[in-house]
Amino acid sequence: MKSVTYEGMTFDEYISKQEIEQIVQDVASRIAADYEDKHPILICVLHGAMFFLTDLMRALPIDCTVATVHLQSYDGTSSTGQVRENVPLRVDIRDRDVIVVEDIVDSGITMHYFKQILRARQPRTVKVVSLLSKPSELQYPDAKPDYCGREIPKKFVIGYGFDIHEYARNLPEIYALREN
Ligand code: 5GP
Repeated sequence: MKSVTYEGMTFDEYISKQEIEQIVQDVASRIAADYEDKHPILICVLHGAMFFLTDLMRALPIDCTVATVHLQSYDGTSSTGQVRENVPLRVDIRDRDVIVVEDIVDSGITMHYFKQILRARQPRTVKVVSLLSKPSELQYPDAKPDYCGREIPKKFVIGYGFDIHEYARNLPEIYALREN
């Protein structure tokens, strides 16, 4: 099994490159079936969802546009319980079908908060696609992703966009913190 070390912590490979590709294809097929002719706007939540967004977008055989927002709720390996909008969304989404592209839904506070910001801007619809989610940790039911790649138990993961203090995003696979 492949392992990596960051900040004295060991992480073991959890989801392989091939599995990630399969998850992305499955999610893309479901979205394509629901959004044909709707010209959705994909809003990438930086920085965690950046690789998922680019792979997902290339797998979508439909017309769509993209925008970005930088939200932050985690510091290191745990949630701060607050959401910071470091770089706000700068495009008009009025009457658009919006798909928020997120890396992971954990407590749900980030999506709960961001959906409120989006609704105030009067889009036609808002849905969330998340590569992963931790259903056991969900505290905001409205944040449950409409499309989820894979549900995981309570684990801290890095790689494929997921960071530990901004490092490890460039690992091609997803790794989970080894529990002692
Ligand atoms: P929530 O707001 O749902 O509690 O947490 C969502 C955000 O926290 C994600 O967008 C991500 O930035 C961060 N996060 C949650 N779980 C993990 C994890 O296991 N690993 C990493 N690197 N970030 C996580």
